[in-house]
This record gives sequence, C-alpha cells and structure tokens, in this order.
Amino acid sequence: MEDGAALVLFSGGQDSTVCLAWALDRYSRVETVGFNYGQRHSAELAQRDKLRASLRELRPTWDERLGTDHMLELPELGRLSDTALTRDAEIEMTEAGLPSTFVPGRNLLFFVYAAALAYRRGMRTLVGGMCETDFSGYPDCRNDTLQTLAKAISLGTDASFIIETPLMWIDKAATWALADRLGGDRLVDLIVEESHTCYLGVRSRRHEWGYGCGHCPACDLRRKGWEIWKRETGLA
Ligand code: ZN
Repeated sequence: MEDGAALVLFSGGQDSTVCLAWALDRYSRVETVGFNYGQRHSAELAQRDKLRASLRELRPTWDERLGTDHMLELPELGRLSDTALTRDAEIEMTEAGLPSTFVPGRNLLFFVYAAALAYRRGMRTLVGGMCETDFSGYPDCRNDTLQTLAKAISLGTDASFIIETPLMWIDKAATWALADRLGGDRLVDLIVEESHTCYLGVRSRRHEWGYGCGHCPACDLRRKGWEIWKRETGLA
C-alpha cells in the first residue's frame, strides 16, 4: 500500500483538471481514471490526453508523479439513463429541479469502480471534483453522500478508503483562483485552452474563459466564475 498515492477521477473538464493539479501537488504517485458511458459528445474525453501531457510539461515533479491513465467503459450507465447527455434532447430543468443531464447515482458508480481499480493498484485515496457550492441539484455531489460512500467502500473492501473533494466548498471563481495558485498563468491558460465543460460539446467557439456554446448551464457557470475571479483579482 502506498500512502502517497491517489487515483483522480479525470474527465477532462475544468473541475477534474484542477483536481488533478491539486493531487499532483501533494501525492507522490497520481493515476487517473476516466469513464466512457456513451456520452452524447466526447469532447471532454478527447481533451484528457492533451491535458495530461501538458500538465507533465508544467512542472518536473508533476511529470515524475503522473502515472498510468485508465479508461473504463460503462455503456450500461448510458443505456440506463434517459438524459440529455445520452440522447438528443434539450438540456432543461426537470420537474425535480434537476438538469435533464442528471444521470441518477452517476458519481456513486464512478467511485465504486474507481475504488475497485485503486484497490488493485495499491491505492486508497480517491479524488473527485464534486462541489456543493455551485450545487446544480445533483444529490450525488453532496459531501454527505460521498463521505458516506467512502465509509461503505471501506467496509465493503475491508480497506481504509478516503474520498478527497478539494472543490467541495469553493465556487467556480475560487476554482480558477486555486488553479492559479497551483500552476500560475500556465495552468490557467491550459484550463482555458484544453479543458472542456460545455454540455453541448461545442469546441468551435472560443471565449475568454475557454470553448463552449456560451449559454448552456455548464458554460454559464464557467463564464460567471471566470468573470468574478477576474474582477476579484483586479484583472478585468
Ligand atoms: Zn455550453
């Protein structure tokens, strides 16, 4: 067992990229896992390799620490989920107040798969970019949910698993600030250029804060966070 090792749930989005940098800053061995479950667009997944390669170039220690990338195929998750991510439907708010992109229990499944993989790889720390502050109504992003899950996984594997969520209590502006603190302008630029967040998979439109359609809920959050961060740092 390696104490200084962590497995990061890495989709290629802004949040998971910041989490990966956060992990590279504090663990001596960091591996990444991504999930392919038939997302309507795979723009995020396509950015993963580029982001990993660029993070290696950012700091020599990060290059040494960044290990294997794992890709797990979970097509059943896509098949079971009747959501806008997996079929051509409008992204809208459902009656339950959730975006129609919601895949019930998605993060629970991700962490259970990640834990099984981590167990085999000799790692007990899992890192994810879930956040309650920009809470979109996803109950599987709640801190209570994830810490209870960590307990269930630990009991179920008879191993002491830890789930770290460095973004849990910070908003999108603070996520940009964290990126700046971890990797300066180069990391911020990398996230703008290569990380993908847009629900619609648009990479043809470049804004100050990155690529995206500019009006879906994910683009909206990312843009607002950028604007607040710029205002707070006096750069706008
Ligand atoms: Zn968008």
